[in-house]
Amino acid sequence: MNLVLFGPPGAGKGTQAKILQEKRGLPQLSTGDMLRAAIASGSELGRKVESILAKGDLVSDEVVISIIQERLKKPDCAKGAVFDGFPRTIPQAEALDKLLAGLSRKIDVVIELKVNDEILLDRVKQRIAQGLSRADDNPETLKNRLAVYHRNTAPLIAFYGKQGKVVTVDGMAPIPEVTKQITAAVEKAGG
Ligand code: ADP
Repeated sequence: MNLVLFGPPGAGKGTQAKILQEKRGLPQLSTGDMLRAAIASGSELGRKVESILAKGDLVSDEVVISIIQERLKKPDCAKGAVFDGFPRTIPQAEALDKLLAGLSRKIDVVIELKVNDEILLDRVKQRIAQGLSRADDNPETLKNRLAVYHRNTAPLIAFYGKQGKVVTVDGMAPIPEVTKQITAAVEKAGG
């Protein structure tokens, strides 16, 4: 089962990806986490992408595609994976389809977590107040991340819609309810 968790920044993709990982043994492939790990390690890649993440802009397709390509080679991905924060552009989605086809696999289902922009902004403010915020969690950067999402990433709904793979879930519902809806979609898709 290969699943894409799709939605704006702060929609709860990471939370649900972790639950899927625990319940179904599908590894969470978060390009955001991988890029933050590269920054924390002080690697050349990390130094290259640090200012891009800080602004909330997109890292180049080439970089994230090669990170995912390498990650997919690890044995824990043999039974599939949960893609979290990737793909974020049409070229990334096309590259992912090709990569998976080369492994005789495909994306089975795309879960779209729908959350209003105002609620996302409230969530970030809450994270800041609780001291749980990341370097790119400030209202200004979030506005840019949202603009980038609407411009570059939202068109993927139509891309996967044409493939008949999108299931939309209300991301404003309580966490267990979101999990329930995702579970139903995964089971319907054969997982
Ligand atoms: P969010 O929780 O805001 O969706 P992520 O943790 O997924 O954020 O990603 C954080 C940042 O990492 C993004 O704002 C972007 O700069 C970079 N990034 C992550 N994934 C990708 C991707 N697939 N393509 C380009 N940039 C990415």
